[in-house]
Amino acid sequence: MSTKHLTHWIGGKPHTGTAERQGDVFNPATGRVAGKVDLASPAEVDAAVAAAKAAFPGWRDTPLSRRVKILFRFRELLEAHKLELAELISAEHGKVVSDALGEVARGLEVVEFACGIPHLLKGGFSENVSSKVDAYSILQPLGVVAGITPFNFPAMVPMWMFPVAIACGNTFVLKPSEKDPSASVRIAELWAEAGLPDGVFNVLQGDKVAVDGLLEHPDVKAVSFVGSTPIAQYIYETAARTGKRVQALGGAKNHMVVLPDADLDLAADAAVSAGFGSAGERCMAISVLVAVEPVADELLEKIRERVARLKVGPGDDPESEMGPLVTREHRDKVASYLDSGVAQGATLAIDGRETEILGGGEDGFWLGPTVLDHVTPEMDAYRDEIFGPVLSVVRVATYDEAMRLIGDNPYGNGTAIFTNDGGAARRFQNEVEVGMVGINVPIPVPMAYYSFGGWKASLFGDSHAHGMEGVHFYTRTKAVTARWLDPSHGGVNLGFPTNG
Ligand code: NAD
Repeated sequence: MSTKHLTHWIGGKPHTGTAERQGDVFNPATGRVAGKVDLASPAEVDAAVAAAKAAFPGWRDTPLSRRVKILFRFRELLEAHKLELAELISAEHGKVVSDALGEVARGLEVVEFACGIPHLLKGGFSENVSSKVDAYSILQPLGVVAGITPFNFPAMVPMWMFPVAIACGNTFVLKPSEKDPSASVRIAELWAEAGLPDGVFNVLQGDKVAVDGLLEHPDVKAVSFVGSTPIAQYIYETAARTGKRVQALGGAKNHMVVLPDADLDLAADAAVSAGFGSAGERCMAISVLVAVEPVADELLEKIRERVARLKVGPGDDPESEMGPLVTREHRDKVASYLDSGVAQGATLAIDGRETEILGGGEDGFWLGPTVLDHVTPEMDAYRDEIFGPVLSVVRVATYDEAMRLIGDNPYGNGTAIFTNDGGAARRFQNEVEVGMVGINVPIPVPMAYYSFGGWKASLFGDSHAHGMEGVHFYTRTKAVTARWLDPSHGGVNLGFPTNG
């Protein structure tokens, strides 16, 4: 079987140079290498940034009405090609096509938000702040901005960034994950078809070399990152040192609290959907189920019934509800928590190593839905972000104990509470130290016109992604004070300007 070749997209076309280094791109359902991706050298980083820099003056001066027409065309093209994009994602990531379609849909919502950019870029104006003096503010783009993204959402996470950045008048260099690079190239082609000028959107394939090149490059003005916490912290510190604006979204350990009064069927549906959708490789996946007693046994029984009916298989099989993990190495690391969990005192309520795979699974990176029960905070399975289909059940006696658990956890990305008690839910939303909260909603990913981002070790920086925080991140404000000559003007005054 021939393998696919993926390369950079620079200045409106595929890069033609020969790569010094390449990475393997796998089909996780079969375990076979399906493609080779070029890994950028420092010279290729320079070429991508130079293309973006050259495109900036023209794009910055492109009238808002023209920018918006291109955004609307891009939106239509994404809509028309969403299945094709979903299939590309599924083939390299492993998630099922229906789930990949959902990811494209959520990214598309940010493009739709960005179509309203003329309204969002309005500054303020105050007439006559002093005698015959007006004051106003304008929002201007930064220049070349970079996005560095993780493997788990190869379309949606880049789309948290570039629609807003480009709509604001910046030019963009995307460094996608080297594990699933195809979607980014197809997106670049769609931008070109929509009429985006060459160099406004560039894709740089690569690894740490590409990332470090962008972090050190003096022409890159801002960096948006989404990925694991150690790398997010590295990006934040390095980009800050090199004088860039930076937002770095990190890892997660999302707790779902089930109070004794909750509807346990709803809670079981939610725990299974949010724990095992996309094989748990979502930053908003539920990885810890906090059962406030006496619900644990009954809830676990309901989860068992649902997991028994789940179909695990290749992403392109329409029957599959859950696919494989992204690489063999990641699969093995995730599976290692089953042994360490048991060795440290947990019980294996459901063992995903025994799951039957539709079609036999070939040599793919499989691990079925797994539930570890009686997990406690000292165990590795609780402390680490596993990022796979492993749901840890922690049994607690009270609401306060559940809150302490979440408060003591270093991460603060998403959380959810399941209850029929409005007062308890309201108290939870007020007290919990987490950036995104669901009330009877297990994966509370904010809409495009709100902003996405966690607290604590789940985000380094001040701005969350998309929504108004995205617009602010990708613009800087200029405050103008203006006086137009009037017959009454004049007179030297060395005092500090005051109003009157
Ligand atoms: P990762 O941190 O390994 O990689 C993210 C990006 O950083 C990739 O583009 C990768 O090429 C690059 N990178 C990796 N190692 C690097 C290094 N040493 N130096 C410089 N760059 C490096 O993350 P991943 O495995 O691709 O994605 C999964 C992680 O992303 C999970 O931790 C998940 O929680 C997190 N995530 C977070 C969010 C969020 O919104 N907070 C969203 C999606 C994923």
